[in-house]
Amino acid sequence: MVISERKYGSYWRKMRDYKERTFCSLCKKMTDTEIIESKQHIWLECENNRQNLAWTSAEGNMGENNSQTMAKCNTRSNGL
Ligand SMILES: [Zn+2]
Repeated sequence: MVISERKYGSYWRKMRDYKERTFCSLCKKMTDTEIIESKQHIWLECENNRQNLAWTSAEGNMGENNSQTMAKCNTRSNGL
C-alpha cells in the first residue's frame, strides 16, 4: 500500500485547522465516541473510515486474482 505522506499531512492539517480537536471525527460521528486521532488509529484501528475498505480490498486482491493484478501493475509501469 503506497501512502503519500505529504498529502496525508496537509489533509489532516486542514482538518485540524478547521476543527481544532484531535479526536477521530469519524468515530465521533458514527459511534459517538471520542477516540484520540493518531496514525495508528486512522490506518489500523478506525472502524469508521475507509481504511477498513482499503484493507478488505487489499486482502481480496491477494487471493486468486493476485497474479493478474501484479501483471496489470507491471504492464502499466512498463508502459509509462
Ligand atoms: Zn476512528
